[in-house]
Amino acid sequence: MELNSISNFLMKKKLQHGAIPVKVRKERLALLKKMIQEKEAQICNALKEDLGKSNFESYVSEIGFMLEEIGQTVKNIESWAKIKKVKTPLTLFPGKSFITPEPYGVVLIISPWNYPFQLCLSPFIGAIAAGNRVVVKPSEYAPKTSSVIQQLLTSVFKEDEVQVVEGGIEETQALLKQKFDYIFFTGSTEVGRVIMKAAAEYLTPVTLELGGKSPLLIDESANIDVTAKRCAWGKFMNAGQTCVAPDYILVPAKLQDAFIARLQFHIKAFYGGDSETSPDYPRIVNEKHFDRLKALVDPTKIAFGGKMDRQKKFIEPTVLKNVDWKDKVMEEEIFGPILPLIPYENQEEALQKIMEMPKPLAFYVFCENSDKSRKIMGQVPFGGGCINDTIVHLANPDLPFGGVGTSGIGSYHGQKSFDTFTHYKSVYQQGTTVDIPLRYPPYEGKLSWLKLLIR
Ligand code: NAD
Repeated sequence: MELNSISNFLMKKKLQHGAIPVKVRKERLALLKKMIQEKEAQICNALKEDLGKSNFESYVSEIGFMLEEIGQTVKNIESWAKIKKVKTPLTLFPGKSFITPEPYGVVLIISPWNYPFQLCLSPFIGAIAAGNRVVVKPSEYAPKTSSVIQQLLTSVFKEDEVQVVEGGIEETQALLKQKFDYIFFTGSTEVGRVIMKAAAEYLTPVTLELGGKSPLLIDESANIDVTAKRCAWGKFMNAGQTCVAPDYILVPAKLQDAFIARLQFHIKAFYGGDSETSPDYPRIVNEKHFDRLKALVDPTKIAFGGKMDRQKKFIEPTVLKNVDWKDKVMEEEIFGPILPLIPYENQEEALQKIMEMPKPLAFYVFCENSDKSRKIMGQVPFGGGCINDTIVHLANPDLPFGGVGTSGIGSYHGQKSFDTFTHYKSVYQQGTTVDIPLRYPPYEGKLSWLKLLIR
């Protein structure tokens, strides 16, 4: 959509104020599901061109994920959107109370490039399910996927329901000058601040799905082989360009070498001896990120990996050993296939260091003692995470997904997505035949009666 028609759309929307009816929401989402199924090959090709993703990864982490989410949403919209009667205290007798779920109005969704299909459409489904009209701004760094999203949404939704604005920073900033009723942003913490400042102008509520350094702690009791396999899977999927990928690993010093050996074994099993030729190993999104990642690697600390090719935007799975908290790689979110290992002698001190860092989006513990792992999970503040696994917590729609502190504000997935895009309007209804005089002045002699009711 042209920049000058963005405000036209918002004006037009204002003329057609009101929720999209539940029946229409269901129909549109069911059609969207069908269209995604029909266009699966086109979506996979776009993801391959943008990020070199394999069809398997594209299906599991983007397309299949969306199909499941739409299916679950369509099944539940009616019950989520129902007006809910709640209890009324005796002091408000003889009235009734109920809560009406109401859409905010026009929602702006701004999404990143790393899972460009899923991270754009997943919040979108929640916004539509709740009855909002939506402006979607996919990432300019995944242009093929952005174009597929544009085609898909414009073929399923009417112009006054959904608009897709393709483009980069200039377009986003033009959008942010408009008044929206809700802004849902997924991206970096730095840009999250820009979004929140712009939203503050109109006091627009926001959800910010941000990033940061997500730690993984290995306990002495951990099953080192399975730990290495699940760490390698979670870290090197999408070449490490996953917001919840383990950013760095704290490993007992005496287990570091054994862990490295198992990591190397599993990475080779996943991507072969030369990951550059593997059809399952993606590329870095662009040269800017390639250069940034290259600069994070201290060659003296490479345990294995380290091969890079700027022209092909290829970085081999690279593991760094004996990393120190002061190393450059620990200064920023890595967001690429570089895995620093920090050996520790004292677990309490290691946990203390984690807690001195900004609150992460994810946290992982590998430990064979269930009580101990739960205690650790309770001790550390973070958005979401796993015990003895990586990443998969976000695949459960009953687990709200989001960060805390600098890793985000708010959450979504499953019913939480519906809640995120819904204002719960509270109404108390009274009749007029009975009018208890207790609340009206003059108050003399009434307080003792009131105290009998309020205890
Ligand atoms: P980004 O913040 O650079 O960009 C995200 C979106 O913001 C894009 O659509 C872009 O056009 C827009 N944008 C960028 N700069 C802007 C500016 N100055 N003003 C207005 N808009 C601007 O993020 P990215 O590089 O696309 O994604 C990587 C980051 O996103 C990482 O930090 C990662 O952890 C985070 N992330 C978080 C989640 C999550 O669910 N919490 C998911 C994926 C990625």
